[in-house]
Amino acid sequence: MKLITNGIKGTEDILPGESYRWQFVEDIMRKQAQSYGFREIRTPVFEHTELFQRSVGDTTDVVQKEMYTFTTKGGESVTLRPEGTAGAARAMLEHGVYNDGYPIKAYYLTSCYRYEKPQKGRQREFHQFGMEVYGAPSYFADAEVICAAHSIFDRLGVRNLDLELNSIGCSKCRPKYHQALKEYFESQKDQLCETCLSRLDRNPMRILDCKSPVCSEIASHAPTVLDYICEDCQTHFEGVKSCLEAAGIRFKINPTIVRGLDYYTRTVFEFVSHDIGAQGTVCGGGRYDGLIEELGGQPTPSLGFGMGIERLLLLLDSQKIEIPQPPVCDLYVIGMGEQAKRKAFQIIEGVRNSSLIAEGDIVGRSMKAQMKYADKIKAKFSMVIGDNELQSNQAKLRNMENGDERMVPLDDGFFSEFYQAYVDNDHSELLDQLDLMK
Ligand code: ATP
Ligand code: MG
Repeated sequence: MKLITNGIKGTEDILPGESYRWQFVEDIMRKQAQSYGFREIRTPVFEHTELFQRSVGDTTDVVQKEMYTFTTKGGESVTLRPEGTAGAARAMLEHGVYNDGYPIKAYYLTSCYRYEKPQKGRQREFHQFGMEVYGAPSYFADAEVICAAHSIFDRLGVRNLDLELNSIGCSKCRPKYHQALKEYFESQKDQLCETCLSRLDRNPMRILDCKSPVCSEIASHAPTVLDYICEDCQTHFEGVKSCLEAAGIRFKINPTIVRGLDYYTRTVFEFVSHDIGAQGTVCGGGRYDGLIEELGGQPTPSLGFGMGIERLLLLLDSQKIEIPQPPVCDLYVIGMGEQAKRKAFQIIEGVRNSSLIAEGDIVGRSMKAQMKYADKIKAKFSMVIGDNELQSNQAKLRNMENGDERMVPLDDGFFSEFYQAYVDNDHSELLDQLDLMK
């Protein structure tokens, strides 16, 4: 029995009492994405394994160690998405979205799966918000995407977040840097971990991203990519920096950022917090001009970022940023007797149709217990309907906060109008107008 009542290691449930925190953050993400002209893309949770091998890169930790890959009953190898970019790029190509013209701007809010060692801020199922731009070579695009991520942190009121920026060059200048790195790491070969040894020939830049303490120590003295980038990459990088300065966004150059996925070119960036422990990177992204071509499309300059929602929520917690509580019940209606219960049901439905929150008993509580329950859920108003009320078609409306009671007609339209007036703070006038008995 234990097996079916335990969730899988590295996964977390988001329970009804806490989902409002997620919704709050997600709403801000959607709003900011919209104001930057992005529309949502939703892609399947699994894809052909080859898609991730080709795009994320088969020398990365994600592909070498972390993917949830399995063979289907039909004998196909499929993988649960470890990130959002590959699926979005695949969908874009498959449906010829680019025929509508560039740029294409899409955002996603999605779950991701990586077989990692679970710890604070690191799960096996986690969630990302991401933005993707296709067909935008200009450095204004890099700046726009960074500003968009920044605007989300800003709206949430997050503080002490460092924006770290680097350029990792392009296919023209990267070979020279690879060569320099290879020579450097060759000289320290005996100390590198086994995975890094295997990366030495194929992709020495990946060693810079290794999390083993020995490899990271060696990597910290490696040649710096910024000394090797070509003039075009340099101009692009200067452009990004000048736009960020114009937007008043502070950044630090960090030449050790290479990002964990293979598809990056030129600009790479991370937003890093020092308030949530070792897993401090809340958002990472950059440019990936070679990705679409790698997947069989035309060369398409592209870029984007992924933001970890769990880490962002940890950050909000650690900075004690308050998330507004979800709205509470506006009206709780109690019916006494079968006929009155049906009337209560009818009123409740009507009030709900006016977009207010109304509730009634569905568990068979006594009247007293229902009163207690209405109190517990912090209902703003309550009403009791019995035989007398049915006959007179009026009932007492109780303000649960101050105990005020008034007779009102049994009419859901009246409640909605009354409620609006109450919210607008001129309900006494409304009640007078309606000439109701006290
Ligand atoms: P890290 O270096 O921490 O492993 P990464 O470089 O693998 O991160 P990305 O692939 O860039 O991460 O993913 C973008 C964002 O998604 C990260 O900055 C982080 O906020 C979040 N993220 C990545 N992996 C996890 C995970 N296992 N659990 C929770 N959040 C994650
Ligand atoms: Mg990782």
